[in-house]
Amino acid sequence: MLQGNRRGKGKTVLVAGGAGFVGSHVCDALLARGDSVICVDSYITGSRDNVRPLTNHPRFRLVEQDVCEVLDIGEPLDQIYNLACAASPPQYQADPVHTMMTCVAGTGNLLALAERHAASFLQASTSEVYGDPAEHPQREDYRGNVSCTGPRACYDEGKRAAEALCFDMLRARRVDARVARIFNTYGPRMQANDGRIVSNLIVQALSGKPLTIYGSGMQTRSFCYISDLVGGLMALMDVTPNPGMPVNLGNPGEFTINELAQMIRSMVPRQTVIVYRPLPKDDPQRRRPDISRATDLLDWRPTVPLAEGLGYTVEWFANSLGGRARRAAA
Ligand code: NAD
Ligand code: UDP
Repeated sequence: MLQGNRRGKGKTVLVAGGAGFVGSHVCDALLARGDSVICVDSYITGSRDNVRPLTNHPRFRLVEQDVCEVLDIGEPLDQIYNLACAASPPQYQADPVHTMMTCVAGTGNLLALAERHAASFLQASTSEVYGDPAEHPQREDYRGNVSCTGPRACYDEGKRAAEALCFDMLRARRVDARVARIFNTYGPRMQANDGRIVSNLIVQALSGKPLTIYGSGMQTRSFCYISDLVGGLMALMDVTPNPGMPVNLGNPGEFTINELAQMIRSMVPRQTVIVYRPLPKDDPQRRRPDISRATDLLDWRPTVPLAEGLGYTVEWFANSLGGRARRAAA
């Protein structure tokens, strides 16, 4: 049993996917403000290393469980963050049926838990609900351009179904559900071998390997530093009243993949070449969030420019490459 929950001022918060990249930073921030945290994770893409420093914390508890199984938590819960889902395309496509089940059955189980505890609920949705967008930048009222049969569908359509579940539970007044549409986020604790662009390029550059760019490199993404995202997620969870609609969270700065590669090359003293590889099927050509809703409702906007955030991330990978990151990348 956790110490401090409901007896003190802090809330008791369950973080599903709390051993992942985003989740572990959410756990840190909640503990830092005095909450008690129950981290539920199956470690399918996350790492015990991400939460190892927290394991002796008196207000932290780890539960190893797949959220596709029904959850039974004894402590009264105030809030539930659902971050449990592989986020990197190679990882979510490795077992697409499990990814879809995580999004649908997992979100359903966590919403049922929130209902039993009368806990507020935050769903980590994604810019992928917009697919390969025909509107640019993407506002929340854009309904998207998603293939329901392609290799990304397990994630994109799974997340869309999860949003539908959240809004059904909200309309039925069964759960105080909130939905964040997260755009590409990066920072320390990304897995070195998770296949995402920022981790791939940094690990390749630090290892002196060729930087892999898929397609022409002219496709764009908007990259948000992890501390900015965590602030936005917590603001959305805590804001009153519940906005009752999805909220984009991302950094509106838009960069081509070629530009990103050049920035990373310039930060790493090793000489590296760029190699071009085929573009994966259904890879979105451009992506940039319109964050006016987050700014209006949450007074939230990112503060860490890409060059600064990349600097912190390169430094973190450089330090950890001596250990687990170099082994994972081998
Ligand atoms: P991640 O892979 O690092 O973390 C996901 C965590 O969830 C891992 O610890 C994993 O072990 C756990 N998990 C996955 N399936 C599970 C299951 N069935 N049961 C229990 N645990 C499970 O990914 P991340 O980047 O930290 O992403 C966190 C959330 O944010 C995801 O829901 C993702 O869809 C969303 N998101 C992330 C980004 C991003 O750029 N990082 C962008 C959009 C949305
Ligand atoms: N990408 C790339 N090289 C890599 C990994 C990814 O050029 O080593 C490209 C990928 O095809 C996509 C962009 O970078 O166009 C972002 O990929 P990521 O997997 O990080 O995120 P997502 O496609 O989900 O936005």
